[in-house]
Amino acid sequence: GPSVGVLALQGSVEEHLECLGRLGVRGIPVKRKTEIASVDGMILPGGESTTIGKLLRDFGLMEPLKDRILNGMPVWGTCAGLILLARHILGEKPYLDVMDITVRRNAYGRQIDSFKRYETIPAFGQAPMPMVFIRAPYIESVGGGTEALCELEGHIVAARQENMLATAFHPELTEDAGVYRYFLKMVEEAGNQGFIPVSTKKTN
Ligand code: GLN
Repeated sequence: GPSVGVLALQGSVEEHLECLGRLGVRGIPVKRKTEIASVDGMILPGGESTTIGKLLRDFGLMEPLKDRILNGMPVWGTCAGLILLARHILGEKPYLDVMDITVRRNAYGRQIDSFKRYETIPAFGQAPMPMVFIRAPYIESVGGGTEALCELEGHIVAARQENMLATAFHPELTEDAGVYRYFLKMVEEAGNQGFIPVSTKKTN
């Protein structure tokens, strides 16, 4: 079966590896260029985007990771990982700069630093699923090639663009495997077709 890397610089790495293991998928902690080159898909975990972004640069991983994403490797960013994927971060410079979304960091303010909701998200399952938000961003807007998969109280919290998936919440902290199944299908399909380069060009 395919192997799924979890970027292992900072954040909720172990939790993702455990969830992959429960689903019978080989999860690989990724810290090196050679590991980026060998996995079939990658998860960018939650944590602190400024820290993970700095470590990506310091370890020379930013370009190799960006290249693989642009060449079609399936990638799923959760929370801080979503911020890393974004082409636009309000008030800040982008990191990987690959996904056509505009992101607001720490969007839910102090009083609701962390919260949990249950929603049915058709892309991920037919029943209400738990969504855990921790100092979460939301997606202010998406570009033309990007599909919003879930809105919560008027804000986009999950989106898909070609080989890229982003969730503002943390499925690795719940028992619900719906988002994993969705992502693993993306990995499987990319494996069957060969990786298809991202067609979206920078427009601004
Ligand atoms: N607040 C963090 C950031 O801006 C994200 C929080 C998380 O990943 N749970 O990077």
